[in-house]
Amino acid sequence: MSQLKRILVTGGAGFLGSHLCDRLVEQGHDVICLDNFFTSQKLNVMHLLDRPNFELIRHDVTHPLWLEVDEIYNLACPAAPGHYQYNPIKTMKTSVMGAINMLGMAKRCNAKILQASTSEVYGDPDVHPQPETYRGSVNPIGPRACYDEGKRAAETLFFDYHRSNGVNIRVVRIFNTYGPRMHPFDGRVVSNFIRQAIEGKDITMFGDGSQTRSFCYVDDLVEAIIRMMNTPDGFPGPVNIGNPTEFTIKQLAEMTLELTGSKGTLQHKPLPEDDPLQRQPDITLAKKHLDGWEPKVPLREGLKRTIEYFRSCDMSQFRAPTPNY
Ligand code: NAD
Ligand code: UDP
Repeated sequence: MSQLKRILVTGGAGFLGSHLCDRLVEQGHDVICLDNFFTSQKLNVMHLLDRPNFELIRHDVTHPLWLEVDEIYNLACPAAPGHYQYNPIKTMKTSVMGAINMLGMAKRCNAKILQASTSEVYGDPDVHPQPETYRGSVNPIGPRACYDEGKRAAETLFFDYHRSNGVNIRVVRIFNTYGPRMHPFDGRVVSNFIRQAIEGKDITMFGDGSQTRSFCYVDDLVEAIIRMMNTPDGFPGPVNIGNPTEFTIKQLAEMTLELTGSKGTLQHKPLPEDDPLQRQPDITLAKKHLDGWEPKVPLREGLKRTIEYFRSCDMSQFRAPTPNY
């Protein structure tokens, strides 16, 4: 890395944000981690607190903030369905007002800014796999809309600040990512299955398990978003980031049972409303703009590392989203 920068990571204490902070601190940058700890705890960044090039700020991105920075990674937003549906109006505010506040800062500081968007902008897709040109099939009034439409509106704001104010933007659409430091009680499929399996409980499989997801290991994701921030051609995106290898939820459940040696069985539960039936990124554009990037960690290997992490966790250290939010 030729030039050291002041970098703000919003949502920096979360699952993805904390891994991103690790990498940026290691590269020697001056890293400011901002979080309101809605879906995370200090535990994820505790090991960074005594590093001279790391700072932690408790702040909510829906409120303005004055900092001087060179780059902003805007990750602040609850990501698990149970978390973002807990207070849907706040979720929408976080995406929209958070984007406005951070874009305003980027404009004032002449900073580069990256938005963590999502495969959810495609909704329950009728094009498969999903290329960035696909405009999506989102239910604007369903239970997932606070997140999906919030993220879509944030993308709109990013491109309008880019066109109207010349802000240097990057937009990445992240597909299901997993790994150590996922919140064990976030209700997402990987964390649920692993926690249930290591506790010897039955696995809660929603629907018949034939719905698909493509799971990307966190290290692959972090590599891609850092490359995206640093693309020499200034490509703003949007770009899909994910692992294109697709699995059914039933296959994931069976692999988790096998790797944990659990004696649990599959317990069927109803499929939640608007649950997308299939999801697989087309990563042609990412390969082209991110110097041939592609995921390296296969699901089996990534699951082993995540299981090891979950086994090392003291579950009493984790709490559900704060009711005072
Ligand atoms: P996470 O819940 O672990 O992290 C989000 C972080 O943002 C948490 O630390 C939370 O406390 C913080 N936060 C929430 N609202 C905030 C607010 N108003 N102000 C300040 N901080 C706030 O989730 P994650 O999986 O690490 O996701 C990070 C980002 O990546 C999110 O924007 C999410 O939408 C996006 N994303 C993640 C995935 C995935 O599979 N993990 C997929 C698509 C998109
Ligand atoms: N799922 C499941 N059991 C669980 C949690 C989730 O079968 O205990 C399913 C869920 O219905 C969805 C998929 O796993 O089809 C992925 O869910 P997740 O909440 O992880 O993320 P999504 O991709 O839906 O946002």
